[in-house]
Amino acid sequence: MAKRRKRRTRRKKYPIRITPSQGLVFLLTAFCLVIGLRLGLGGQGGEGGFTWRDFYDALQVNTMPQGLEEVPADGQAVHFIDVGQADATLLQSGQEYCLVDAGEASSEEALLSYLDAMGITRLKLLVMTHPHADHIGSMQAVLEHVQVEQVLLPDFDKAPYPTTRTFERVMDTIEQQNIPTVTAEPGQEFTIGEATLSVLANGVETDNYNNLSQVLFFRAPGLRVMLTGDGETEVEEDALAHCELPQADVFKAAHHGSSTSNTLSFLQAIRPQYVVVSCGKDNSYGHPNQEALQNYAMVGAQVLRTDEDGSVVIAATEDGLQCYTASGGQQADSAA
Ligand SMILES: [Zn+2]
Repeated sequence: MAKRRKRRTRRKKYPIRITPSQGLVFLLTAFCLVIGLRLGLGGQGGEGGFTWRDFYDALQVNTMPQGLEEVPADGQAVHFIDVGQADATLLQSGQEYCLVDAGEASSEEALLSYLDAMGITRLKLLVMTHPHADHIGSMQAVLEHVQVEQVLLPDFDKAPYPTTRTFERVMDTIEQQNIPTVTAEPGQEFTIGEATLSVLANGVETDNYNNLSQVLFFRAPGLRVMLTGDGETEVEEDALAHCELPQADVFKAAHHGSSTSNTLSFLQAIRPQYVVVSCGKDNSYGHPNQEALQNYAMVGAQVLRTDEDGSVVIAATEDGLQCYTASGGQQADSAA
């Protein structure tokens, strides 16, 4: 009993031990908390406009490229949306948009939230380059989320008709919504705002769906973009043989930067200033391949990659082309 009483007495004598440095940390924390609550609850938080909400948002994985607010709303731009080991390319001319491919099913949220952040409720055109899951996985979701005026399809006469459930669901949704479809043919042109999207080639006879990919050229004021989907060497050779290939400022690396395409002769024909590789972090394919990277270097192109830069936007500005990148990239969790 005596021992117990003695311990209690000792506790009362020294309730909490605080060193001077702990005291300083405590005071600073309390100060930050008070300021934070004031700014957060107060909404705008004074001249600087900083709120605790801004701080909170900054801590989130940021899929929107930094500085994107500098791009004029009526601007000309291409957005390579980070959808991991997949493709989703948004072509913008003012307030009109064309989406080329729609990533994997697993990237549905990333894709839809990007479209939402851009304030997009309507697509002038939705393009399916070919029916692989990493290009049409979230296409049904896009069709249900925004209004689509027209869908450009690959030329299915050149390959066995696809039978996957993902593909069937996309086609069913297009039909249910009575959205007009067009089969890609060389020479077609689609108007997107002040820009024109031209079909230069529409794939080759194949049992490899990659080679159904169209060769597409987007020409906007101050911005020229070449897209070849997952087209392989055969598609590039076909384009070289049959098309007057224009110079492009931006080239979406063919087939996620695979060595099965991105031939030097094709790159020399289009002489891109920028090549953007849409691929997943640590993907099992080794995309982009070393050979492709060497070819990009040989034509003097600057390479940007969604696995390292996150979503990449290249926009036409008064000072020429400007690049905007987010941070980080999505993990590769799916097939190419
Ligand atoms: Zn692919």
